[in-house]
Amino acid sequence: MKIGVLGGGQLGRMLALAGYPLGIRFRHLGTAQDTSAREVAEHVNAAYEDHDALAHFAEGLDVVTYESENVPLSAVEFLSQHVPVMPSVAALRTSQDRLHEKLAFAELGIPTAPYAEVNSLDELEHAAPRIGYPSILKTRRMGYDGKGQFVLRQPDELRMAWERLHSTGLILEGLVPFDRELSILAVRGRNGETLFYPLVENVHADGILRVSYAPARDAQVLQTLAEDYATRVLDATDYVGVLAIELFQAGAQLIANEMAPRVHNSGHWTIEGAQTSQFENHIRAVVGYPLGDTASIGHCAMINIIGRIPDSPQVLKHRDAHLHLYGKSPRPGRKLGHVTLHADDARSVRKRAEELKREISEPLAKHPTADMAHASFYED
Ligand code: AMP
Repeated sequence: MKIGVLGGGQLGRMLALAGYPLGIRFRHLGTAQDTSAREVAEHVNAAYEDHDALAHFAEGLDVVTYESENVPLSAVEFLSQHVPVMPSVAALRTSQDRLHEKLAFAELGIPTAPYAEVNSLDELEHAAPRIGYPSILKTRRMGYDGKGQFVLRQPDELRMAWERLHSTGLILEGLVPFDRELSILAVRGRNGETLFYPLVENVHADGILRVSYAPARDAQVLQTLAEDYATRVLDATDYVGVLAIELFQAGAQLIANEMAPRVHNSGHWTIEGAQTSQFENHIRAVVGYPLGDTASIGHCAMINIIGRIPDSPQVLKHRDAHLHLYGKSPRPGRKLGHVTLHADDARSVRKRAEELKREISEPLAKHPTADMAHASFYED
């Protein structure tokens, strides 16, 4: 059995690492800069526009999946004529564009932040009073980790925000006054079997995920609601694989921020903290194997390593610390690895996570979601 993965980053790497014990082999399609997956699997270096290369890539593969929603739709549509591609093109199309995503959530009765499509400064000036302040102007496409965003606090910032971001279609969103950020990860097999991981609590800084705590505390009622929302998306998109939905919790309400039709950073804790990791379950789903149990084992904190790589012994001296480095070269704001801490109770895992985070964190750079004033174009 051989799986093709579009993209050669850390998610592809961890998919391959999870698949080898099941006897599955991998071929990644990426660029020369994609070092993460290349270290552990066959790598094809080609452009997504090169259909000859895509056809060659597809030879001998049983199924193709992807590790990023920013894969060009045309490449996925072309490949799906040669080999099954999962998750579906419908899910990929929706997740590539924040406006389509919002429309899809609304159609499915899933709450979102108030929003407006923005295609000109004039439209921005009309939308801003309606959406209110503070609000966030975002690029509709290709944004992640807080990239391509500008937080607006007052009317005199509209022109500057427009000038920074307007080279592409935009969306203006109201800033949700959330209590905390959560994510739900679902997995659906080829036969429709569906399982959910426990809700995860996520802490962002500078628009980038820093720490995830799993399972999220006091989330039993919210779990049912989140599973309901995820099921609506799975059903609507004929989904196979792992799906992540990022949510804001405001009181008893869950407000969808965005969806990712792939394994997700907020699911990395599942490698040590769940009966079956998100990576293994994604693979099981797309090849048509039975899914594995998604229950958590104790309590976990997942801390992203961003910007600089700590000395391994510095991390590993912490009891129960599991270090994952992605084979990437350091750059400010770049995700280079993660550490998972595992304990029997939520309180001690949080305390240890705080300690470890202080030790290994890069100093925070000036960033839009930190000072809410600048557009950001950080590296992944
Ligand atoms: P995104 O790229 O949309 O995932 O945004 C990155 C992070 O910025 C989110 O995880 C939130 O911390 C923050 N953020 C984005 N959009 C909003 C919003 N409408 N309201 C409040 N916070 C937001």
